[in-house]
Amino acid sequence: MTDIPAPAHIRAIAPYQAGKPIEELAREYGLDPAGIVKLASNENPLGCSGRVRAALGEAVDALHGRYPDANGFDLKASLAMRHQVPASWVTLGNGSNDLLELASLALLDEGTSAVYAQHAFVVYRLSTQARGARHLMVPARDYGHDLDAMLEAIADDTRLVFIANPNNPTGTHVPGARVRAFLESVRERHADRVTVLLDEAYDEYLDPDERVDSTRWVREFPNLIVTRTFSKAYGLAGLRVGYALAQPALTDLLNRVRQPFNVNILAQIAARVALDDTDFLAQTYALNKTGRAQLQEGFAALGLDYVPSHTNFVLVRVGDAARVNDQLLRQGVIVRPVAGDGLPEHLRVSIGLPGENTRLLDALKSVLQA
Ligand code: PMP
Repeated sequence: MTDIPAPAHIRAIAPYQAGKPIEELAREYGLDPAGIVKLASNENPLGCSGRVRAALGEAVDALHGRYPDANGFDLKASLAMRHQVPASWVTLGNGSNDLLELASLALLDEGTSAVYAQHAFVVYRLSTQARGARHLMVPARDYGHDLDAMLEAIADDTRLVFIANPNNPTGTHVPGARVRAFLESVRERHADRVTVLLDEAYDEYLDPDERVDSTRWVREFPNLIVTRTFSKAYGLAGLRVGYALAQPALTDLLNRVRQPFNVNILAQIAARVALDDTDFLAQTYALNKTGRAQLQEGFAALGLDYVPSHTNFVLVRVGDAARVNDQLLRQGVIVRPVAGDGLPEHLRVSIGLPGENTRLLDALKSVLQA
C-alpha cells in the first residue's frame, strides 16, 4: 500500500467494526439470505412503524432535487415540544454517532483529553483519537461505568467525559441519582471547563422506574449534552437520525462544526412521525422485555454467565468467542464479537423476535455441545 503521509494519531485508529450484513454472510458461506438471522447491531426487530412507512411513501414527493432543511425546523420543533426546551437547544445528527463526533470536534484537540469507561461505546475512543486528544480510559466496575473513578480521572486538560447510559456493549445501567451526583461533582470541581456527554441511545428500553428526565438536567447543567437516537427503539437505523440537547453555549459550538445538510429529508420526516407513534414504542418495549427474559433464561439454562441487560441486547460469556462466533455464522446466525472492546470471551446478542431468539439459543446449544 502507498505510504501516504498522515498524522500518527490517525494511523493509530483501529476502524469501527460494524455487524456483518446478511448479504455478506450469504455470499461468504453460500447461505440463503432468507434463512439468516441477524442479531448483531441492536436494531429494532419490528423494523419501523407502519405510520413511518406510510409517511415515507408520501415523502418521496418531498425529494424533488432539493437539499433538506439545514436547520431541521420541523423536527426540532417536535423535539423541543417533546422535551420542553427551546428549539435552539436541539442539534440534529446523522445518527447520534454524528453528535458524538461533533462534540469531539468542537471540544477536543491535541492539547486536551477525554475520559470514558473501559468497555464503553467504541466511538468515544475513535472520535477522541481522531482529534489527536489523549484518551483516559477508566477501568470498568462490574462491566459498567465507575463514575467515582471517572471523576478522579478528570485531568487539567480534560474537556469531555463520555457516559453511555445504558452502555453498549455491556448493557449496564447507572441509576439516575448516581449520574446526577456525578454531574454535580464535575461542576463543583471543574465548573464548565469539562463537558459531560450523556449518551442515552437505549433510553427507551429502560423500565419506567429506571428512566430519568435528563432534559431537566440539561436545564440545570450548562456543561451537559444529552444525546438520543431514532436508530434503536424507533427503528430508523437505516435513515440515520439522532439529536442532542444542550444549552445555547454548547449547542452553538456543535453547530459550528456540523455539516450544513447532515440530516436528510426522509430522515427528518420519518423521525417526526416516529416520535408521535407511542403505540409502536410501547410494542417495541414490551417485545424487548419478553425477548430479554427469553435470552437471559436461555443463557442461564446453557450454564452461561451473562451481564443482566437494561437494553435491547445481552452480553454473554461463551469462552472462546471467536470460535463460537464462527460456528454460529456457519449456521446462519450473526451476533457481535466484542474482542475489540476488551471482551474476548463474550458475544453481544441483540434481542430479536421470539423465533430469532430461539434460533440463536438452539444454534448456541449445538455449538457448545459439539
Ligand atoms: N451510542 C451508543 C451507546 C450506541 O450503541 C450507538 C449505536 N451502536 C450509538 C450511540 C450510535 O447510534 P446511531 O448513530 O445509530 O444513533
